[in-house]
Amino acid sequence: MHHMTLAEIARGLADKKFSSVELTQTLLARIAQLDPQINSFISLTQDLALGQAKAADERRANGESGALLGAPIAHKDLFCTQGIRTSCGSKMLDNFKAPYDATVVAKLAAAGAVTLGKTNMDEFAMGSANESSWYGAVKNPWNLEHVPGGSSGGSAAAVAARLLPAATATDTGGSIRQPAAFTNLTGLKPTYGRVSRWGMIAYASSLDQGGPLARTAEDCAILLQGMAGFDPNDSTSIDEPVPDYSAGLSGSLQGLRIGVPKEYFSAGLDPRIAELIHNSIKELEKLGAVIKEISLPNMQHAIPAYYVIAPAEASSNLSRFDGVRFGYRCENPANLEDLYKRSRGEGFGSEVQRRIMVGAYALSAGYYDAYYLKAQKIRRLVKNDFMTAFNEVDIILGPTTPNPAWKLGAKSSDPVAAYLEDVYTITANLAGLPGLSMPAGFVDGLPVGVQLLAPYFQEGRLLNVAHKYQLNTDWHTRTPTGF
Ligand code: GLN
Repeated sequence: MHHMTLAEIARGLADKKFSSVELTQTLLARIAQLDPQINSFISLTQDLALGQAKAADERRANGESGALLGAPIAHKDLFCTQGIRTSCGSKMLDNFKAPYDATVVAKLAAAGAVTLGKTNMDEFAMGSANESSWYGAVKNPWNLEHVPGGSSGGSAAAVAARLLPAATATDTGGSIRQPAAFTNLTGLKPTYGRVSRWGMIAYASSLDQGGPLARTAEDCAILLQGMAGFDPNDSTSIDEPVPDYSAGLSGSLQGLRIGVPKEYFSAGLDPRIAELIHNSIKELEKLGAVIKEISLPNMQHAIPAYYVIAPAEASSNLSRFDGVRFGYRCENPANLEDLYKRSRGEGFGSEVQRRIMVGAYALSAGYYDAYYLKAQKIRRLVKNDFMTAFNEVDIILGPTTPNPAWKLGAKSSDPVAAYLEDVYTITANLAGLPGLSMPAGFVDGLPVGVQLLAPYFQEGRLLNVAHKYQLNTDWHTRTPTGF
């Protein structure tokens, strides 16, 4: 049962081959058995899951249908879940039970999805290896000595290990696409504003976006359908109609113009990944796509700009965690200043503290113009590059990451080395564009992802291209040994 995709589960439930309760019990048992190897969950919500599964079975018995009705999922542990610990991977929020559900959580629950638990993540979504979680590192099911990527590493590892078919995740600089690439999944970061951020604990508010992680584009379409849409509670949510993503999967790729940026194939890219990317291009050409070389000249400035803007926003967002209003409070504070200092010093891990300090510095009087304002100008140039490119092409294709998943600990003492691995993903966040990563092959037994980017609100185009590619390739069907 655990090998089924969301689409297969929906068919099985509709045909009464099994019930949602049976499926939920099977997956909960599988999580109990296998998760100790990969540490992908922070909290399990068995009672909630079985209650939701029972309710979904009853709704089906009463004639209701729907692709998510009775489908087991999990939420990255930064989506608020009412009455359930919402830790953000941090000691700071270890004792935080959210008083309400995030919009994404509420929408998926209303569609009948069954929440199995909350998945592990880098602390406050800062990272690309899932090693900064207070709950311990997550392991990559493809090789337990390697990282699963981050910050949505728990969601990715759980889906890759077939503990469940799909999970929610968030992407501020690549945290859906990069773990998807590292664990052989399909992950979609929607257009900024497509999915509500209400109840999603903020890292960098102008970059954060929730989206689906699953094995196939078909499943991402199903999950995105349940997540997307206007939300009056999120002032940056956009009031645009949500298309039927599943219906759009079968469009022809004849004449699709694919742009391949020449800057993507520079010295930093593992040549074995470059070869797999070229193979995926050939595959899409066979399906009718036309390839065009393009240029994104400001790409080289994106990492420094992102690593000013994201920490700047984080330093502001995380000021609320002060030992008074939310979260962890130190023991026996001597006075108010001691309370603030020790609560934050003890509650936040080192990567979070580093980003708060970088961000506060970049925003401080005298440095604001030199760093923050400059970074915002670069952000505009990066966006303009994309706008120019999308005058000529329908999608942009390239690698998701320059290297496959590295060994646990390999980059933990050198934060900049980890930041450089984000080179292909962060530009989409700076511009607010949708991006998708899908399986494209293996290097040394580790999965490699190909990234597709599209103009604003063209998630459907990304899913369509990925689905057609997956009908003609079988990388996404490969399963890690032992799972
Ligand atoms: N690796 C990036 C960072 O550490 C992106 C994280 C994310 O997308 N949440 O900021």
